[in-house]
Amino acid sequence: MTYDAIVIGGGPAGATTATVLAQHGRRVLLLERESFPRFHIGESLMPYTWFSFERLGVLDWLKRSGSPRKHSVQFVSTSGNVSQPFYFFETIKHDCASTWQILRSDFDTMMLENAAAKGAEVRQGVAVRDVLMEGDRVIGVQADGADGKLEKHLASVVVDATGRDTLLAGRLGCKRRDPDLTKIAIFTYFTGALRDPGLDEGATTVAYIPEKGWFWYIPLVNDMVSVGVVADHDYLYRGTRDPEMIFQREAKGCRWIRDHLAQGTRLNSMRVTGEFSYRATTAAGDGFCLVGDAFSFLDPVFSSGVFLALKSGELAADAIHVGLDGGDITASTFDGYTREVCRTLDSFRQIVMAFYDRTFSFGAFLGAHPDLQPLLVDALVGNVSDGLQPLLDALGAFMKRTDRRPADAMSP
Ligand SMILES: Cc1cc2nc3c(=O)[nH]c(=O)nc-3n(C[C@H](O)[C@H](O)[C@H](O)COP(=O)(O)OP(=O)(O)OC[C@H]3O[C@@H](n4cnc5c(N)ncnc54)[C@H](O)[C@@H]3O)c2cc1C
Repeated sequence: MTYDAIVIGGGPAGATTATVLAQHGRRVLLLERESFPRFHIGESLMPYTWFSFERLGVLDWLKRSGSPRKHSVQFVSTSGNVSQPFYFFETIKHDCASTWQILRSDFDTMMLENAAAKGAEVRQGVAVRDVLMEGDRVIGVQADGADGKLEKHLASVVVDATGRDTLLAGRLGCKRRDPDLTKIAIFTYFTGALRDPGLDEGATTVAYIPEKGWFWYIPLVNDMVSVGVVADHDYLYRGTRDPEMIFQREAKGCRWIRDHLAQGTRLNSMRVTGEFSYRATTAAGDGFCLVGDAFSFLDPVFSSGVFLALKSGELAADAIHVGLDGGDITASTFDGYTREVCRTLDSFRQIVMAFYDRTFSFGAFLGAHPDLQPLLVDALVGNVSDGLQPLLDALGAFMKRTDRRPADAMSP
């Protein structure tokens, strides 16, 4: 049987692509290597994920999931000063102003089950080993089958949603690391750690450490908290490469994190993610496209990863639907998709670069450009459109100014 589409990987990007294609009435096969629920990092959502969830029909699950509501983000300076929380509802007059902190094992399982419920054929525990090609055109995949034998599956289009495994970008040799964002992350979970009261209970906290590194603190269901430290490879690995010792050392030096973890109990060993940010030089070709982390990964400081996974999944599925109506899926089917995804990534990247710039502070920037505050908020909640250009231009110009003094690490 030839499918309309095969999706490789069942994370948020793959599940979204498969769901939207099934909603369009297309025959979709989704192959996921793991058996869900499986662990995944990346729990803090951006407010504008709401609109993807609405389209996918999963808002009710989120509302009933018991996931902490995220109304805000707050920043803590290296000296321990906590910024006024940045409440989304102050700017957004829509229910999306309150989003969620999700346990990915539960969330990803729900997303995959939703894809199946909407009509996609979902197979778990099936690893794709390679894509099948006819010249430059991808025509299907080769995947684990029964009795340890490889099976072939054919489709008009193959969507790579393999996340940081980057199956196709690896095979095509087109994955490029971002040389300006060479960070690593070391992270784990706690239970019983301190939560801020009231509205701030589900806030994401970004607590700075020296050299523009930072901790995330993300409250989750069942009294769990996801805590991780992100910084330059050379900074974190100074003196030791032991993740345990590095985490303890940095937590000890960061008063807010130390105080919040003091009463907590560690739940797991440390995990490490290196080779942080990258992008493939191509997002699509004849018979294929790349979505979510399979195309690009951007530093997670503004929690943009799941948003980008959902958004790229939706855009790719819509492009494929139109392409199938036209009878052929070629590289040009995805021109609009590539433009839109790259524009969004470029916007987020510029703001991430500002965050890490040693002499930049959002406070000083907004002091010079108070009129741009609404656009900065738009960017941080995921309301990304062409209208962001004045903000991006001003950020670029501000970062080039030579009269800036090294910023206090406090932000915004
Ligand atoms: C340290 C860190 C912190 C982060 N924090 C946040 C955050 O707070 N908020 C946020 O929004 N994002 C965050 N992210 C980013 C977020 O985790 C990702 O952007 C998101 O998971 C991307 O979704 P995806 O579907 O593209 O990939 P994934 O979620 O990785 O899914 C890919 C799936 O493909 C499967 N797969 C891989 N290879 C194969 C194969 N050969 N055959 C079949 N299946 C395969 C995998 O098993 C996996 O299930 C963070 C990332 C990191 C590294």
